[in-house]
Amino acid sequence: MEKPRVRFAPSPTGALHIGGVRTALYNYLLAKRYAGTFILRIEDTDQTRYVPGAEKYIVEALEWLGLQPDEGPGFGGEYGPYRQSERKGLYGQYAQQLIDNDKAYYAFDTPEELDAAREKAKESGNHNFKYDSSVRGQMRNSVSLPEEEVKRLLDAGTPYTIRLKIPTDEVIVIQDIIRGEVRFQSNELDDKVILKADGMPTYHLANIVDDHLMEITHVIRGEEWLPSTAHHVLLYRSLAWEDTMPKFAHLPLILKPTGKGKLSKRDGNKLGIPVFPLSWDGDTPEDSFTGFKEYGFLPEASINFLAFLGWNPGTEQEIFLLQELCEAFSLEKIGKSGARFDIDKAKWFNQQYIIQSSNAELAELIRPMIEEKGHKVETAFLQAFCGMMKERVNLLPDFWANGYYFFSSELEYEAKPIRKKWKPERRAFFDQLKADLATLDPFEATNIKSTIVSAMEANGFGFGDVLPIVRVAVSGTVKGPDVFEMMQLLGSEEIQARLEKGYAAFDEIKAAVQ
Ligand code: GLU
Repeated sequence: MEKPRVRFAPSPTGALHIGGVRTALYNYLLAKRYAGTFILRIEDTDQTRYVPGAEKYIVEALEWLGLQPDEGPGFGGEYGPYRQSERKGLYGQYAQQLIDNDKAYYAFDTPEELDAAREKAKESGNHNFKYDSSVRGQMRNSVSLPEEEVKRLLDAGTPYTIRLKIPTDEVIVIQDIIRGEVRFQSNELDDKVILKADGMPTYHLANIVDDHLMEITHVIRGEEWLPSTAHHVLLYRSLAWEDTMPKFAHLPLILKPTGKGKLSKRDGNKLGIPVFPLSWDGDTPEDSFTGFKEYGFLPEASINFLAFLGWNPGTEQEIFLLQELCEAFSLEKIGKSGARFDIDKAKWFNQQYIIQSSNAELAELIRPMIEEKGHKVETAFLQAFCGMMKERVNLLPDFWANGYYFFSSELEYEAKPIRKKWKPERRAFFDQLKADLATLDPFEATNIKSTIVSAMEANGFGFGDVLPIVRVAVSGTVKGPDVFEMMQLLGSEEIQARLEKGYAAFDEIKAAVQ
């Protein structure tokens, strides 16, 4: 395959939805698979929808995921500028060329006139008013008006838009890499505005001109753009650029966790799941979201999960680092049907990546969270903690939720095992055990274990009589990593204090029952 030049072309209208991130990922993967170029282009021609901070968010999200553009605003490249607002002066000539070749026309209709036409259509039962060849003749444009009138209007500086003149009775055939042949009947298409009254191009014109000038080879984007592709093909044809027209690949929808309907940004807050890569602080709570990162997903796991939303390698292998995805990826292996956003699967991926991460990496990832809770910890301690806990967490905050007792001695004791196992007549045994542990030197897991086991055996107790008590005194819970290693890490002094405090608390728990 020739080296692909692909672009991720988001509009900075707010936080980048996870569907957009997947589009970026697939573009990136195709570029890297064939030693091509991944371009970031900011499509900001619609000033009314522009949201400050959105471009920065997009760049930060790509950076977090490791999807570095080869060309783009702030990334260099020879096809710039890469922000459409900075290319404003470039598009008019192509709109003019289309007018000159009778492929587009001036439309002088005011917003009020357009509203009136829409109303009129509604009254006659047509709720989907389209500015197309059937109404073109009744509107005020350079097709319907006499030439002198058009000239007069233009000379007088009358505001106008430029519309694409869709041919009648044509079938437009698109070869989509994912969907195969897709056909559009031209009579169903509207005469889209390509240049607005303020001189700015609309998405359609800017997108085509830029894809052409930036020598884009493949357009990989969401399914929602498929209907626009008919217009785009006509634009390529009308500008005599059909020979170099990019190939199209329209990605399947991402479906809600239930599998029914498209995943929306509202599903995030409603279901308590991330649908954005990073958190976003909007003006209202409904427009504010917690990201994959802030939920405690690792970027590698997020990438792996997203890659599988629509694509699969055709083998059993599920764990793919970005580099491995770059080698295995192909557009042909993307499915047509919607991909269900399965948050449990995302957590499973995260768990796998956490297990594979080194203790040193994990320690640095969770350090801010531990410090935020008010605990300063030594690096060696934190790393050992990560080693003990990493098989028991899905998300990074689970390290705290399931292991807070490594940092805090304010424990919440699970009452059930205590009610069952704490017997006042065994108090002397547990006091003696505590005293035996106090003299241990070095205070290490193997010693701790043999001390407990011999005390147990000498008194005819089993593991089930002793370990739950010790465990709950040390950590508050019967769940957790190896109890002897946990005790070693916490240290002799701390264990003495916890046993003392625990025994007293157990007496109270027991007393409360009687
Ligand atoms: N600006 C469009 C968007 O926001 C780009 C669509 C395309 O890739 O052509 O998704």
